[in-house]
Amino acid sequence: MESGNLTFTMIKPGAVSNEYIGPILSKITEAGFRIAAMKMIKLRTAQAEVFYGIHRDRPFFKSLVEFMTSGPIVVAVLEKENAVEAYRALIGNTNPEEAKSGTIRKLFAESVSKNAVHGSDSDENALNEAMFFFSRSEIFTKDGEVMMAANQIV
Ligand code: UDP
Repeated sequence: MESGNLTFTMIKPGAVSNEYIGPILSKITEAGFRIAAMKMIKLRTAQAEVFYGIHRDRPFFKSLVEFMTSGPIVVAVLEKENAVEAYRALIGNTNPEEAKSGTIRKLFAESVSKNAVHGSDSDENALNEAMFFFSRSEIFTKDGEVMMAANQIV
């Protein structure tokens, strides 16, 4: 498996508190993604600040960090051919008002800030984000083996 077959997602607070974990995971698996890793956690402020560090100077940074630490989230690694692009298409536009019908954000997001899910925007970020939350021993191949090979997960 190539790295281009993996992406990373978070089901954000709001979607979790609205009991959308199940419906969102259904959309993900119905779209042909395999869940390679998954857990429910609560982000600490420092973790959220590092994860969203690229947005540090944006006006919404503080409220984004506050929101992302406001309750538990589900983090997961997903596998599918061309995973990053396919998952970005499935989740839809950052702003749910602009997201296409049937997309996860159109169905489950409350607003541009409370937008239900995260999806990596490049293969490089997908691997970095997966490794931010998971150790190698927590990411599995479709055969149920730990994903150890260099071309599977860095
Ligand atoms: N965000 C926000 N307000 C904005 C723009 C973005 O709160 O005006 C948040 C939103 O949760 C978004 C995240 O910052 O998902 C990252 O923004 P990005 O532009 O990278 O969008 P994404 O890649 O998540 O679609």
